Amino acid sequence: MAATIYYDKDANLDLLKDKTIAILGYGSQGHAQAQNLRDSGLNVIIGQRPGSPNYDLAVSHGFQPVSAAEAAKQGDLINILLPDEVQGDVYRDHIRDNLQPGNVLMCSHGFNVHFGQVVPPQGVDILLVAPKGPGHLVRSEYEAGGGVPCLIAVGEGAADDTLQLGLAYAKGIGGTRAGVIRTTISEETETDLFGEQAVLCGGVSELVKAGFDTLVEAGYQPEMAYFECMHELKLIVDLFYKGGLSYMRYSVSNTAEYGDYTRGPRVVTAETRAEMKKILAEIQKGEFAKQWLDEYRQGSKNFLARRAAERDLPIEKVGRQLRRLMSWIDAKEV
Ligand code: NDP
Ligand code: MG
Repeated sequence: MAATIYYDKDANLDLLKDKTIAILGYGSQGHAQAQNLRDSGLNVIIGQRPGSPNYDLAVSHGFQPVSAAEAAKQGDLINILLPDEVQGDVYRDHIRDNLQPGNVLMCSHGFNVHFGQVVPPQGVDILLVAPKGPGHLVRSEYEAGGGVPCLIAVGEGAADDTLQLGLAYAKGIGGTRAGVIRTTISEETETDLFGEQAVLCGGVSELVKAGFDTLVEAGYQPEMAYFECMHELKLIVDLFYKGGLSYMRYSVSNTAEYGDYTRGPRVVTAETRAEMKKILAEIQKGEFAKQWLDEYRQGSKNFLARRAAERDLPIEKVGRQLRRLMSWIDAKEV
C-alpha cells in the first residue's frame, strides 16, 4: 500500500488568508512554524508565557506574544506547540473554554489527542501537521527555498475542509515543497513513540553504552572505546541517511560488511525483537503514556534523577574531553 503524498500543487494557501493562526509556544517547532507562516503572508499570533528567553525571542522576531488563553480566543486555527507532557494541563486550564465552533485545534504530535488528554469541544476539528525534522531545520530549509517533509492527519469525524486547511498550513511552513504524507493520529503517535523508544533514542543509546562498556571492561582505553562506539556512529548514520543500508555496506570495508552480517543478528536477537513487540504493545494500550504523564504530574523525580545519572556516565566524561580536541565538531555541553 503506497502512501498518499501531497505537494505544492495540492495545497491552496488562500484558504488561510482571512484566518488567524495562533501558535502556542515559541520553542523549537513554534518559532520555526510561526516565522514560516508569517513569511508565507499569513496572519500569525503567538501565545507564549512571559519571563523566558522564548518570550524575548518572539519579541525580537517582531511578534507581540499574548497569553495562551488570549491566543486561543483570537485564533481560528490554534496550534499547541508545547512539550507533550505539559499540553493536557494547559489545554484544560487555558485553551478549551476559549475555543469556538469552527475553530481547528492543531498539533505536531498526536500524543495528547490520541491518549485522551486533549478532547476538543463540539464543532472543533483536530488537525495534525507534523514536520519530520527539528524546528531549526524547518526554518532553515524554508529560508533556503525548500522545506521539511511533513505528516498530515485529521481527527475523527473532521470535515474535509479541515484536511484542505491542513494542506494550506503545510504549504505555509514549506512542507508541501518536500512532500506531505497522509497518516492518522494513531499511526503518527504510535510509530513516533516506538521509533524513539526502540531505535532512535532508547535502542541506540543503550547499544552504544553496551559496546563502550564491553571494551572498557576488557581493558581497552576508554578513549578508544569512545571513538569506536560513539564518535564513528555519525559516519555510519550519514551513509544510512544518504543511501540506506546498501550504501553504508558499499562504503565500508568488506571485512566490516562481513562482520555486520554475521554478528549483528547476535546483538539484536529474537529476544530483542520480542521485547520490541512488548514495547509497541505498551504504547498501543496507553500504558507508556499513562506512566510518563504520572511521572510528570508527580514532579518528574525519577526522570530528573535518571537524567543526572546518565550525564555522569564514564562515556559522557571521556566524550566531553575528546570533543574538546575536535574543533570542527562544534561541541555542545548541556
Ligand atoms: P519546546 O520544548 O522546544 O518548546 C516548548 C515551548 O513551550 C516553549 O515556548 C516553552 O516556553 C513552552 N512551555 C514549556 N513548558 C510550559 C508550561 N508549563 N506552560 C506554558 N508554556 C510552556 O517544544 P518542541 O517544539 O520540541 O515541541 C512542541 C511540539 O512539537 C511537541 O508536541 C513535540 O512532540 C512536537 N514536535 C517536536 C519536534 C522537535 O524536533 N522538537 C519534531 C516534531 C514534532 P518557556 O520558554 O516559557 O518554557
Ligand atoms: Mg518524535
